[in-house]
Amino acid sequence: MNPPRILIVDDETSNIELIAEIFTEDHEVLFATDGIKALELATTTDPDLILLDVMLPGLDGFEICTRLKAEPHVSAIPVIFITGRDDTATETRGLALGAVDYITKPINPQIVRMRVSNHIELKRARDRLTQLATTDGLTGLANRRRFDEVLECEVQRHRRSSAPLTVLMLDIDHFKLYNDTYGHLRGDDCLRAIARTIEEALLRTTDLAARYGGEEFACILPNTGTSAAVTAIAERIRTQVMALKIPHETSPTAAYVTVSLGLTTHYCTASTQPQQLTAIADKQLYVAKAEGRNRYALDGLVVEPLHGRPHLPSQIR
Ligand code: GH3
Ligand code: MG
Ligand code: MG
Repeated sequence: MNPPRILIVDDETSNIELIAEIFTEDHEVLFATDGIKALELATTTDPDLILLDVMLPGLDGFEICTRLKAEPHVSAIPVIFITGRDDTATETRGLALGAVDYITKPINPQIVRMRVSNHIELKRARDRLTQLATTDGLTGLANRRRFDEVLECEVQRHRRSSAPLTVLMLDIDHFKLYNDTYGHLRGDDCLRAIARTIEEALLRTTDLAARYGGEEFACILPNTGTSAAVTAIAERIRTQVMALKIPHETSPTAAYVTVSLGLTTHYCTASTQPQQLTAIADKQLYVAKAEGRNRYALDGLVVEPLHGRPHLPSQIR
């Protein structure tokens, strides 16, 4: 496991040196001497813990803590105030803002070290639980719970922007027959291989691939919506699954395992609900299935397999 990463925020470099000394041997230590830099480092380096001075020029420690706790990406990072102010009112305020601990100067290195170590251990345990609660055990992709959370978040974000949001649903064709023919363990291998393929076909770090249910997968593609981009992604997933050449001798529609996809692109408004997007993508998936499988349907367009020919948007019927 990586050594814990600690961010020390203090305007006095001598204080930073004093605290850093306690941790340099077995921790990665980052520091900031003002609030703006502290917020930037918290966002970009994802520290395991922040040691935060209260009295700082510009943004003070309380303001920094308030901003950290309001920002979902960094709100889980534990903050410990480390300050010369030892009155009860200040300590109460710090803890009320969401800090996990409050240490007064002059510091006792041994105690600072142990308190920090306790909080990092707790933080890592929380991270592991979150990871377990949001990951699909079989494929390692995000699970349904995580998909729903991210979709909710993206719909909210897209309501405030003019960018389109695309949702993709995918279902393996004749997968029951696959299990019946090759057994559940091979079925599980197939699910894992398809999960990898979907993940690899998504190129942006903001795209999310999830296992939605048994043999169904779903993707969220933020800021994606031109028909060229959307069809390219669907076609890439479809052809790359075929390229796996996983034999499926009992499939009525192909010699290998194939998938069907349904997609929908939305410009979100205040009334857009996340479930609408999954429902429409699911309906399109049903259309792709009904039209013969191994194809994708996008807001009414059904696109048949191209049999290896290069895909151009103009070929969509
Ligand atoms: P269609 O082409 O219409 O999608 O047909 P299908 O057979 O794929 O669809 P159906 O919904 O009838 O069957 C889905 C199958 O997926 C049934 C179930 O055994 C299998 N399945 C679901 N979850 C898992 C899993 O975790 N592991 C394995 N091996 N199979 C699974
Ligand atoms: Mg299904
Ligand atoms: Mg299926």
